[in-house]
Amino acid sequence: MKSLDYNQSGAFHMAPRNVSDFIHSLPKTEIHIHAEATVSFDSYFALNSKYGADPSLKNPADFRKLLKMDSLETMIKNFFYLQSLFRSPEDFLYIVSDVRDYALRNTISYLELFVAPSMVLRRGEVDFAGIMDPLVEGFAAVAAAGGPDIRILVDVSRAFGFDNAAHNLSLLLDYLSKRSTDRVLGIGLGGQEAGNPCRVYKDVFRAAKQTGLHVVAHAGEEVGPESIREAVLELGAERIGHGTSAIQDPALMDLLKERSIPLEICPTSNVVTGKYVRRYEDHPIRQFYDRGLVVTLNTDDPVLFDVELEDEYASVERRLGFGREAVLDLVRNGIRAAFMDDAAKARAYEALDRALAALG
Ligand SMILES: [Zn+2]
Repeated sequence: MKSLDYNQSGAFHMAPRNVSDFIHSLPKTEIHIHAEATVSFDSYFALNSKYGADPSLKNPADFRKLLKMDSLETMIKNFFYLQSLFRSPEDFLYIVSDVRDYALRNTISYLELFVAPSMVLRRGEVDFAGIMDPLVEGFAAVAAAGGPDIRILVDVSRAFGFDNAAHNLSLLLDYLSKRSTDRVLGIGLGGQEAGNPCRVYKDVFRAAKQTGLHVVAHAGEEVGPESIREAVLELGAERIGHGTSAIQDPALMDLLKERSIPLEICPTSNVVTGKYVRRYEDHPIRQFYDRGLVVTLNTDDPVLFDVELEDEYASVERRLGFGREAVLDLVRNGIRAAFMDDAAKARAYEALDRALAALG
């Protein structure tokens, strides 16, 4: 890594290979990523074969063709198909090993993972504990073995209405009352944003907060800035998933900055689903960063979008002019925005400093 060289503005002055090495050497966090979309095609093929779900899928590569998508609507439909392949508790162990391997490949030391129980519960084959126990125990074992620290956010879902979301929260609270675990951090609101406004879920979020759970919400991914404002003001969301449409509303960006509400930005996801951004170069992450918002970098759905976290870091460097200091700011923001306690954050900053010192 001696060939690292930066110009005075802090921009990278390196060959692409060295940029990749630099990014890989940094211990990172990821805080917006969905479990079911981090499972590999090999694992899905194994599950598909186990259940004979779709006999037309002859090998793992067929999953890529199946999941070709061009909109958020198609993406969510595909997502439901993937979720339908988890039909017994041991199936969730694929999530444990694949998310662990993904984190290791990308030098992610801490990861917050969305897990969405609604579709699995609706099939009726696995109960809530049957979903959560393999994940909670599996990720605890990964951490105990010195692997990445993987925590869970339960996506209560906005796709099936208030009652379903409230039911998911009650299942989670009941589960936590019976298990001694700190692996589950809180709830998120994911799924189709259009037609399912944040305000509908106000009481679910209030109840979750009263019990000490963290709360986050997808907003501004496919609906305008009013959705983000609702997530902040009505739900009390501590972080915003995506927040892309905030770029249309300077007053909202000021609000996000004043309250230091982090944005979980997923550029490739936004380009593929194509609602507000069609080209990577047009993604507002650079403008959010320049305005001083707390911007973090994430992938959303690595397998669906064929992108991993280090690809995103390399892309913002190459295509959006994020130099060395800006890349480091994104990494530091990922620690700042995480739901780690202060001691864990201090350790994460120290690990980052050690990695930088080792680079010389
Ligand atoms: Zn998401």
